[in-house]
Amino acid sequence: MRSIQEIVAKMSGAPREGIALVEKAYTFAEDAHKDHKRFSGDPYFDHLSETAYLLADIGMSSKTIAAGLLHDSIEDVGIAPETIEREFGKEILFLVEGVTKLGRLKYRGAERHRESLRKLLVATGKDARVLIIKLMDRLHNMRTLAHVPEEKRKRIGLETLEIYASIAHRLGMGLVRRELEDLSFEHVLPNEYRDTKKLLSERSKATLDRLQKMTNTLRKEFAQNSIKNFQTDSRIKGLYSLYRKLQRKDGDIEKIYDIAALRIMVPTVEDCYRVLGLVNNIYQPLPNKIKDYIAFPKPNGYKSLHTTVFSGDGGIVEVQIRTPEMHEEAERGIAAHVEYKEEDAKTGSRGGSFDWVKSLIPGFGRKSNTPQTRYSPSSAPSWLSDLGDAEEDPELETSIKTDIFSRRVFVFTPTGDVVDLPAESSPVDFAYAIHSDIGDRVFGAKVNGKMVPLDTHLHNGDIVEIQTKKTAKPKSKWLDFAKTTLARRHIRQAIEKEKDFR
Ligand code: MN
Repeated sequence: MRSIQEIVAKMSGAPREGIALVEKAYTFAEDAHKDHKRFSGDPYFDHLSETAYLLADIGMSSKTIAAGLLHDSIEDVGIAPETIEREFGKEILFLVEGVTKLGRLKYRGAERHRESLRKLLVATGKDARVLIIKLMDRLHNMRTLAHVPEEKRKRIGLETLEIYASIAHRLGMGLVRRELEDLSFEHVLPNEYRDTKKLLSERSKATLDRLQKMTNTLRKEFAQNSIKNFQTDSRIKGLYSLYRKLQRKDGDIEKIYDIAALRIMVPTVEDCYRVLGLVNNIYQPLPNKIKDYIAFPKPNGYKSLHTTVFSGDGGIVEVQIRTPEMHEEAERGIAAHVEYKEEDAKTGSRGGSFDWVKSLIPGFGRKSNTPQTRYSPSSAPSWLSDLGDAEEDPELETSIKTDIFSRRVFVFTPTGDVVDLPAESSPVDFAYAIHSDIGDRVFGAKVNGKMVPLDTHLHNGDIVEIQTKKTAKPKSKWLDFAKTTLARRHIRQAIEKEKDFR
């Protein structure tokens, strides 16, 4: 169990009213769950205080932490929603009910999985905080899974792996994803878990020694090149992620170069590129392994420079270079953004780097080619600043407050696969996201069973069906509404080709 002091200690910079709110929710939940026990026989309140602690630890604000304390009170001990609203207000009730709704979705195998995932994604289009509470709830449940009856463990593990870990990934929450994956792995695939663990421990000692040697060499090099304030560390690949990669590489561990990676953190983006140059100068890099995720972040916002080099003593090592802000984003993801305002206003410690959020907004942040705008965007987009105003304005509906997902739409194929597109995407974007051949042959589209024009905007949860025809060809007017780079590139190529034939 976490004491209220432990939770409050993690809420650095929170206003006094915020702390009072969390204290009130703490007492309320402790009382509401006083006769309620976990499988382990421990008081149920342990789970609630731990969930709240995890939320405070990743920087969530007082309302989210309070909702974390109350998240099982409607479902498990029959507290009336009206009571929560009266005691804690509409916003906290909204969060608690959101978590309760998500909790009712249970994984029951492949078909249900898709349906659940779909509901989950659509439901969370409303408020990312609901999902973050659910993730911390699940994280604590996974940490204590050993007490749950065996027949339940596998189902919970599978659900965690296929739904929650993948959502943590989508939200850019690298640390949470990794822990959820590795905790589930053990229960879902016990034999594979054991084998992978053995393989990793055999390998990691030699690799870590190698990284240490490289670190020493690089330190000297950095000093000579007046690169200051750098930090290094090494990270061992997560077990589940190693297992998945082994599957892709025919089980051959020799083909996996990032079992352990050397991380170098330097203050600025310019430093990152200088360090990349130094590393590639000292160690021979492998071809096609230099990745610039700063200029081209991964879809979930991940940023870093990667290079894979020969360490000179027979090994091959991945080096990851980033700023401390990029590092924080890679580990905390959306949690580094959704509640920046409360922290920011009080301590001025957060903010600064909103590029990840911007990357979810089509066409934002990549318009300018000047290096300065490209590498260090300074101002937040206006919709994001508006979120901050909501904090001061109780009249504003809070559901819009963290509506980051409104910049993406999640739609479905007729068989239930999820396709993630920028807001205002069209059936044409959808078709190209499935396959370029389908995009090039689009003839018509149905959304939720009805024929629609090709420039229709898709919405969360739409089921999209593309009709193709062998003789159909991309049209230049599609460029007026196609949103994704992928679709636009294919359309242009097809039009160019058409010209050549004339
Ligand atoms: Mn719970």
